[in-house]
Amino acid sequence: MKLTFIGADHEVTGSCHVLEACGKKILLDCGMEQGTNVFENAELPFEEGLIDYVLLSHAHIDHSGLLPLIYARGFRGQIMATEATADLCSIMLRDSAHIQMQEAEWRNRKAQRSANNSVLEPLYTMEDADGAIRHLVPFPYDEIEELCDGIKFRFTDVGHLLGSASIEIWITESGVTKKLVFSGDIGNKKSTLIRDPQYVEGADYVIMESTYGARLHNTEKPDYVGELAAIISETLSRAVMW
Ligand SMILES: [Zn+2]
Repeated sequence: MKLTFIGADHEVTGSCHVLEACGKKILLDCGMEQGTNVFENAELPFEEGLIDYVLLSHAHIDHSGLLPLIYARGFRGQIMATEATADLCSIMLRDSAHIQMQEAEWRNRKAQRSANNSVLEPLYTMEDADGAIRHLVPFPYDEIEELCDGIKFRFTDVGHLLGSASIEIWITESGVTKKLVFSGDIGNKKSTLIRDPQYVEGADYVIMESTYGARLHNTEKPDYVGELAAIISETLSRAVMW
């Protein structure tokens, strides 16, 4: 078994890890780096042979947003996800493709105005998003499933987003079974629509999200409406300044 950390190992976004085991190359998440580029992510391992499978923890773009890119570069394997994650990805990956295409178009128009003839291609297109979506395979929570010879997995509801999961992976090589747990994003608790996180038991190795490591969530219920109003009013005042 070999693990390579591609993204979200120095910073919060761009969750992507490569698990090599039983002769297969498996991505754990395939997320897009978002926000300030603090640490450069490692390159996705396209050149060393195609990826066989993706195990996807949840639909947030920083965990799923590069699925259309690996499709564009030749990935035609299965993307294992929970049922709700597959549904959400069908919306969110197309939305992300739309943003990529609009962004490229905007930059190209801007370049033309400054007599720069270089053409920027979008990171991926709507066809790539549709292609990735066709390879999503939905699974229920709490069932142990066979991925391939020697590898089994199970999704556990971790109450972060509709469909979000921790993934337990059992890997048997040379007659020895080891269990890897990929936590995905966990919680928060007492959310209106989403169940509280379930926990998995036992592991030989854990890849753990630690976004809120050493910090406590505010015990008071956040004022989401007030926060959203403040963001809108700040954005509007900036738009006026432009
Ligand atoms: Zn998330």
